[in-house]
Amino acid sequence: MGKSFMPKIRTERDLKRVQLAGLQWTVNQVYKNSEFYRNRFDEAGVRPKQIKSLKDISKLPFTTAKDLQEGYPFPLRSVPFEKIVRIHASSGTTGKRKVLCYTQKDINDWANMFARCYEMAGLTTKDRVQIAVGYGVWTAGVGFQSGVERLGATAIPIGPGNIDMQCQFLEDFQSTVLCATASMALLMGEEVEKRGLTDKIALKKVIMGSERSSDAMRIRMKELLGVEHVFDIPGMTELYGPGTGLDCLYHEGIHYWADYYILELLNPETLEPVAPGETGEMVVTTLRKEAAPLIRYRTRDLTRLIPKRCSCGSILPMHDRLLGRSDDMFIIRAVNIYPGQIDHLLSGIKEAGSEYQIHLHRKEDGKDYMTVKVERAEGLPPSGDDALTRTIEEEIKKQILVSGKVEVVNYGSLPRSERKSKRVYDHREEA
Ligand code: ZN
Repeated sequence: MGKSFMPKIRTERDLKRVQLAGLQWTVNQVYKNSEFYRNRFDEAGVRPKQIKSLKDISKLPFTTAKDLQEGYPFPLRSVPFEKIVRIHASSGTTGKRKVLCYTQKDINDWANMFARCYEMAGLTTKDRVQIAVGYGVWTAGVGFQSGVERLGATAIPIGPGNIDMQCQFLEDFQSTVLCATASMALLMGEEVEKRGLTDKIALKKVIMGSERSSDAMRIRMKELLGVEHVFDIPGMTELYGPGTGLDCLYHEGIHYWADYYILELLNPETLEPVAPGETGEMVVTTLRKEAAPLIRYRTRDLTRLIPKRCSCGSILPMHDRLLGRSDDMFIIRAVNIYPGQIDHLLSGIKEAGSEYQIHLHRKEDGKDYMTVKVERAEGLPPSGDDALTRTIEEEIKKQILVSGKVEVVNYGSLPRSERKSKRVYDHREEA
């Protein structure tokens, strides 16, 4: 056995002790060294010494993406520039990018967290990890790679696209793990099948980052690539990058690294904690981050805590897959809908494919209409389309409580993307 990256914490009490120490260190650090945070604390009338228990976190002010953009380019900076060894930025397209800086310790901590992800997925130094996520100023590629190297496995850094090279290396290098977005992994699966490589490759696991994915996508990926496990890796630039948690081999939820950050789940309207198990917005506070610590950062990502201990026995708590973003939410006929709900619903219907689009229109009658375009599952004849349409329409009505029109289209006819697939097309402002 090699080095372990799991926390040496046995009980919940010990975990809480680690969290309180990290929280107290962080509030002192930012109050002393960041003008932004000091002003925020003063406005909220809170001093670091008032943080005596974990419950006192509720006294602290929130931070948002807007704060990062307004403080561009170095918001939240809490160390002198001499200590900063790297800068990453989000790949955001609108407005200013979110820029985050890292000390050497931050970079080391991130690699350790990422190595822990791989360890949780059961990887060893014998694994060969093909990295098909993007490299650049955003945090994806380099994070995946440093984690592999920290664990001591073999990294094969390719980046996205390059399908010919990806397939060739899968066969020639016998890669055992593929890291990609869900769309890219699915695209690779389809290519592997088309090229008759299924029996010639050695893939065992897929680790998917930065995109929501449905159960149907996972099942399809397992079939096409012949893998045993598909893992979800959450993460965002503000919180180091990807690698801040992973579902283990039991897939009962995503373990998150509670010794590195505190996760609160709050009602996005009232900002009060939701009941255990209820959906809320993820709000994170870092415990060790030096260059750009986060205090109650509102991620806009929605999920729920899984209020039980995982069968693997790990002390690390779990949250569910991301159920959408409070920003992606759309409202139709006064009902709040997240694309993740449509994902979830379609994944329960085996005749439906994994690709879909949601189109919103406003008609002459002034009312809003939703049309869901769904691919028929591969290999099925169009003769079943009417029945499939009815099934999906009924499920939408039953599960989401609105009426939607369903249009079944041919398998492979909706655009595939190597990055995130666009799901919601809102045409309501076009008229
Ligand atoms: Zn587990």
